[in-house]
Amino acid sequence: MSAKKKQARQQFRDAVLKRDRNCCVICKSTDSIDVHHITDRTLMPGGGYVKENGISLCQDHLKLAEEFHQTGGESCAEGLMPEALYIKVGSNHDKALKASQRLEGHN
Ligand SMILES: [Zn+2]
Repeated sequence: MSAKKKQARQQFRDAVLKRDRNCCVICKSTDSIDVHHITDRTLMPGGGYVKENGISLCQDHLKLAEEFHQTGGESCAEGLMPEALYIKVGSNHDKALKASQRLEGHN
């Protein structure tokens, strides 16, 4: 991973965790919070390292949300579909895409 990419990743994590106050957005847990890409990083310009595409989740909810990516969108727990997650953080796919394109343009 390049230094620039590492930096983008760190800034992404920090911005998302700060916005979500270090809590799982679904259950408000503060244990082992991680940052999830709402739209998979392979489907976003520059990996989608923008807070509009990120959400803070506990390990349980992270695992459930990852199912969506792992099954190619065929399976996902209720309330953890990307559209539902975007609503939780006041974003949407279009906003996330545009922010990713801006980020990619700077690199
Ligand atoms: Zn949770």
